[in-house]
Order: sequence, then structure tokens, then C-alpha cells
Amino acid sequence: MQKGKIGVTTENIFPIIKKFLYSDHEIFLRELVSNAVDATQKLKTVISTESIEGNFDHLKIKVLLDKEKKTLTISDKGIGMTHEEIENYINQIAFSSAGEFLEKYKDKKEAIIGHFGLGFYSSFMVSERVDIYSKSYKKDEKAIKWSCDGSPEYSMEEIEKDEFGTDIVLHIAEDSKEFLEENRIHELLRKYCKFLPVEIAFGEETEYKDGKETPTGKDKIINETKPAWRRKPADLKDEDYRKFYVDLYPVHDEPLFNIHLNVDYPFNLTGILYFPKIKKNIDIQKNKIQLYSNQVFVTDSVEGIVPEFLTLLHGVIDSPDIPLNVSRSYLQSDSNVKKISGHITKKVADRLNDIFKKDRKEFEKKWDNLKLFINYGILTDEKFFDKASKFYLFKNTDGTYFTFEEYKKLIESNQTDKDKNLIYLYASKLEEQYSFIENAKNKAYDVLLLDGDLDSHIINKLEQKFEKSRFSRVDADVVEKLIQKEENLESNLTQEEQEEFSPVFKSVLGNNFNVSFETLKEDSAPIIITQNEFMRRMKDMAELSGGGTPYYGNMPDSFNFVVNSNHPLIKKVKEEKDIALKDKIENINAEIIPLDSEKMDLEKSKEGKKEEEILQADKDKLEDVNKKIEDLKGNKNEFISKYGKENKLVSQLIDLALISNNMLKGKALDKFVKRSLEIMK
Ligand code: ADP
Repeated sequence: MQKGKIGVTTENIFPIIKKFLYSDHEIFLRELVSNAVDATQKLKTVISTESIEGNFDHLKIKVLLDKEKKTLTISDKGIGMTHEEIENYINQIAFSSAGEFLEKYKDKKEAIIGHFGLGFYSSFMVSERVDIYSKSYKKDEKAIKWSCDGSPEYSMEEIEKDEFGTDIVLHIAEDSKEFLEENRIHELLRKYCKFLPVEIAFGEETEYKDGKETPTGKDKIINETKPAWRRKPADLKDEDYRKFYVDLYPVHDEPLFNIHLNVDYPFNLTGILYFPKIKKNIDIQKNKIQLYSNQVFVTDSVEGIVPEFLTLLHGVIDSPDIPLNVSRSYLQSDSNVKKISGHITKKVADRLNDIFKKDRKEFEKKWDNLKLFINYGILTDEKFFDKASKFYLFKNTDGTYFTFEEYKKLIESNQTDKDKNLIYLYASKLEEQYSFIENAKNKAYDVLLLDGDLDSHIINKLEQKFEKSRFSRVDADVVEKLIQKEENLESNLTQEEQEEFSPVFKSVLGNNFNVSFETLKEDSAPIIITQNEFMRRMKDMAELSGGGTPYYGNMPDSFNFVVNSNHPLIKKVKEEKDIALKDKIENINAEIIPLDSEKMDLEKSKEGKKEEEILQADKDKLEDVNKKIEDLKGNKNEFISKYGKENKLVSQLIDLALISNNMLKGKALDKFVKRSLEIMK
């Protein structure tokens, strides 16, 4: 028997492995089964070129549990290893640089996991002893048993073994007993080995016989050796893609489309990605993609590996160019991984474009379910934006879909304002903004429906991208002013009349509302409530980002009450007010007018003088006059307000406007109902 020391410089390397990789102990099984798969495939290659005696029909890999002996065995019928190969691959190579490496990165756990291919030695994370029984396919080679108890010492001896291949026998350590449980091993095999290309047998098939499950004596195969993504797209039907999806995600809705990735150059990449229906709450839908390296499961958390928005897709990506045993941060900076991820983005965009071009109807039908994904993509990935601009669909309030280009053509002539800006009108709530939408349509404007979760961000994005264009929600202003054309609306009320009229409404509304007068059509509504586009957006954004800009988030909603001074009822209110308050207003104005001219004189005398040249007496006088004017105006305001507050028609008009905007609730609504009934008496 040969004894020797494994080629490492650190005496106690195994405890270090154990400690550093504590959280990931279970991967030893993936490593050993992958080695077995490699060995089997190498043998298959060999027998296709060399003539070797033997029966190679059943090259299954077997995983065997022996609870009594406390062993777990991974047994393959692959190429096996010669004495020399064990020397080279197991005793020397695997750890040749490990000792040095561990010294250097002692304190950096991440770096060690990142750079250190674990392979075979990961078995020591769970074993107190590991035996290798191996017989090489090479002629005249003796079978070898290698054994090591986790110290750097090993032993090697010749043994008798009939078949080619390798049995790795793990003597499971006391603290790793979970790996002697059938269920646990089954779970791990399903997780990591479900799609490995060589059959893996674990346990026995059972069948239902004589009222109970009975073993059949046949091996139970736990994997699918030729998963859908490894087959040629031409050989697969829709049904196969659907079936594979259900295999992966038994509880999900049917996907919208799939993409079969199949790239040889400049890197190898296969896979099938599915577009799920995404409606709300993006976060819980992320991370459904599984990453494989040559059919070996690597991870199912792909953030940082594929662009953020693609983590919303489902399915499988497989590339041998994605390194296996490395940390996330290493993966994210790997140049191959970057190239692959860029390529996937391109493929996804191309596929969507294809479907759009080939079957626009179908694409439109699925658009609403697809939109959130695409929005996410164009917001986070410039390249994707460029590609998606060809197939991105706007939907208007009538449910018709347009590409960016088509829509621009549609609205260009009618919705360009006097400054040559193209105004995109949109609604975010069909029901609540109904009257505004109708008004816009009556002007032959088109109104988009932008009611999605990310649409407010999309609007900002498009405003940056589209030249000379602005988005305006239909209720941001009265329709006459949404798109400002050449003709300027002249008010039929003088400045003074407006000043004397607005307290009538303000008194009822309170200070959060801004009252203005517009000369609209007689048959337009008497009062229209609008919400400034900028302020509203800021508030929306603050809400979406969960308080990112708290300043706007905390502001109360601010509304504009636009009073249509051309409306007969408004005219009536004004006339009645003018009559009722005629004397009072005239009296107070009679006091204000001389003060006003005095003020003007005083201000005139100041003109052209420096501050220090003005007499203190004149300064005091001006201050005094100003104060008197203020007081008188305040006085006037007060009795006009009082008049407004008591005027049922005013309250009624305001309430009706609030109702049209869905803003009259609770007590105020109750008051309105009672007042209406009273009026009707
Ligand atoms: P890696 O698989 O990354 O090369 P390992 O430490 O897992 O590293 O294995 C080292 C080498 O030992 C392999 O490259 C292979 O040549 C050999 N080997 C390991 N397991 C087997 C096996 N079951 N059959 C044949 N050769 C094996």
C-alpha cells in the first residue's frame, strides 16, 4: 500500500473548507455527480473513436445510500482513473495552488469561494473519510482504491474491480447526518441534477400493487437527460414548450410567449425563456429564471447576471461559459457573463419585434399583460429602449393601439401648440376622468390611456426621448388651454371684476384651492376642477418611490377651480351679487379710490430718488395709505365672502363640480343632497 501527503502546504485544509463553505455544504453532491457525468461522457467519446471491449449499453450513474454503514456512494461507469491520474488529479492538481491561495485570502471568505474550484474535495465538507474505487478503461491498468480521512494523508492500493468507472464512497460525518436521509438526497438530486445529460438512478421505482406501493426492482431515474432547451427548436411543438413550462413552474399561469435561445458563437448559450403575465407587484415575480452550466443547475437567483428587467422572465439559461463555483460578485463582473446578458437582451427584443411584425393582432391581445415587463425594460436599459421603440404600443381610451410613429402621425396636425410642441393627452382613470376625456374628444383630440404602474415614469422617459413633446393629463387644465393655440382667450371680466368675484367662490372652497376665471363656451361646465400637471406628477412620483421626494409627497393636493365666466349660471350669480352688494361695494370703493390716487402720487414723488433722499414723513404716509387700502379691501373681501357663503347657488355649483371629479364625500355630500332637496321644494 502506498501512503503519501496530498499536495498542499496548509496542514489543516479540510477544516478550512468546512468552515468557509458552511452555508453551501449541499453542493458536494452536485460536484460529484457532475464529475461522474463528465467521466461517462468522456467514455462515450472514447468508444466512438477507439475500439474497446465491453458492454457500454447502460452507462447510468447510481447514487446509493447505506444508512447502516453511514455511506453515500456515487458510482459511474465512465472512463475511470489510473494510478497516475489519481496522483495527478486528486493528489496534486486539485489543490496545487490552494494552500498559497488560502494564505493570501484568509480573511476574505467571498474571494475564496469565488476563485476556488471545489470539485471533488467538497466531499470533505460532509465526510469523515472518502474512498475512491476506480478502474480506468485504458488497457492493462489495475483498479485502484484511494482513501483519505480528511487529513492531508492518503493511502492508495491496487484492488480487484471488474467494470470501468469510479465509485466515490463518502463516509458521512456525524454532523452531516442529514445526507443519509433518502428524502434529503432526493431533494438535492432534483435540485441540481434534474436535467443532467446522463441517467442518474436513485432508489427503486414502485408500483401500486395489492393495495400498496411495492418496489419493482427497476432503477428510479431522477433526471430528464434531454431537456427541451437542449433540443432543436424545429423539433419542438408549442405543446412541448408548454409542458416544459409546467414542469418548471407547476403553479403558474400560462406564459404569453417563449424564446428559444440557441447560440454557438462567440459563446455557447442555450435556454428557453418565457414571458409570464405580469400585472402587479413586480418584486414578487422576480427571480424565476434558473441558470445552468451544461445542464448542471447553478443558481436561481440571477440578479446582476442578467439585466434587472429580465429577471421578470421565467425559464432556463444554460451556458458552459458561466463559471460554476464562483461568488455572485465574481459572476457579475465576469466579461463572459456580461456578453451573455447583453445578448439575451437583444434576443428578447428581437423576438418581441418578430411577433409584433408577424402577428400584430396577437401581439395587441397580449400587450396589456406584456406592458409592465416592457416598461420596466425601457426604463432601465437604453439598448432595449431603442429596440422597443419599434414595437411599443400606445393604447388610447377607445382601446386602439398605435406604435410611437403611428401615434405621432395621428395627433401631429391637431395637437401641436403655438410653440410647436406636440401635446400627448392622456387619462389615468377612465371613469373618473370621463368628462375631461369627452371634452378632449369633442375637440377631435385623441386621449391615451396610461393607467399602468410604471406609466408615470414612462411619461418622463418619453418626454426626454421625444423631441418637442409634452404629456398632459386631460384634467390638467380646461380643454381650451390644454393645448394652447394661437388665439388667446380674453376674459370677459376685468381684473377688478375678477377680484370682486373670486371671494364668492373662495369663501366656500377654503385656501387650498386656486380660483380663476375663463371665458369658455356657454355650454361648457360652469366650474371645472383641474390639477396642475407638474405638481400632480411630483406627488405621484413621490408616492411611487415610497417617499423619495418627501417634500412633494407631503403637500396637500392642490386644485384649480376654473370658473366659466361665460356660463349663464355664473353670469346670474355675478349679476345677483352685483345687485345685492351694489351700495356696499360702491361705498367702500368711494373710500378706496381717493386713497389709491394718493398712493399713486406718493409713489410718483419717490421716483428717481435714492432711498436716503426720501423724506421720512412721506415714507410714513405711504405706509399709512397702504395699510388703509389693505384694511378696506379686507373689509370688502369679508362681506363678499359672507355673501358667497350664504349663496345656495354657489354652493350647489361648486358641489356639482366636485361631484364630476369624484371629490364630494361624506358630510359634504350629505349636505349637498339635503340642499338639493330643499331647492326642489
Ligand atoms: P474538476 O472536476 O473541476 O476538474 P475535481 O477536483 O472535481 O475538479 O476533479 C479533478 C479531476 O479528477 C477531474 O478533472 C477528473 O480528471 C478526475 N475525476 C474526478 N472524478 C472523476 C470520476 N468520477 N471519474 C473519472 N475521473 C474523475
